[in-house]
Amino acid sequence: MTSPLDVDPAGGRVLSAVPAAGDRRRHPAPAHLRFFHGPMDCGKSTLALQVDHNQSRQGRRGILLTQGDRSARPRISSRVGLCREAVEVAPDTDLRLLVRASWAGGERVDYLIVDEAQFLTPAQVDQLAELVDESHVDVYAFGLTTDFRTRLFPGTQRLLEVADDVQRVQVEVLCWCGLPGLLNARVAAGVLVREGETVVVADTAPTSAPGEDADVHYQVLCRRHHVLGQLGPTAAGPGQLALP
Ligand SMILES: [Zn+2]
Repeated sequence: MTSPLDVDPAGGRVLSAVPAAGDRRRHPAPAHLRFFHGPMDCGKSTLALQVDHNQSRQGRRGILLTQGDRSARPRISSRVGLCREAVEVAPDTDLRLLVRASWAGGERVDYLIVDEAQFLTPAQVDQLAELVDESHVDVYAFGLTTDFRTRLFPGTQRLLEVADDVQRVQVEVLCWCGLPGLLNARVAAGVLVREGETVVVADTAPTSAPGEDADVHYQVLCRRHHVLGQLGPTAAGPGQLALP
């Protein structure tokens, strides 16, 4: 019986094919590109931080990436109070170079956590796939499924096309009617909006870009009420449905 610690007396080479934790470059094991998607407020960021926690407990090292974070110190934060610093990704960031720069600095990178993955460009998603296949880095991407027009985000579409594993995050957010909330609605002055630019904002942030109506916010609806444009009895007020 061999164990991962058995060595070849001649060369000191590990005989077992079992990869040691965090040693995947010497013992390439299949890595995976996993994509978790859902509507706003469904708990994606909480899940992202949970995955990071579980991975790091196994002695693995990872980098957290996010997009659209306007703060001086980018981070992934969740509504349940968890928070971790993250690297802000720009549309022209080459994610392969980002990982190689960490390696060059002596940092191991076993996995990537990518929050707000809907904002990735298709090319960046392909870069993630290359990191998985060529460098055996596990990638966990988390993002919104559709925009307020109920169309897939570009990054989401590419992830659905190429990811090894796709999971719809269990919906924790409900429409005002009590059915699972699946679709993101953009609401301006109390009315559901179906046209306009897909602006890059954090998934819970109100749109406050220059030129935007300060009264715009997002609300999660079931499909039926999204189609009907019915925002519910409390939608006009700053109650549970309005985002902070
Ligand atoms: Zn509904």
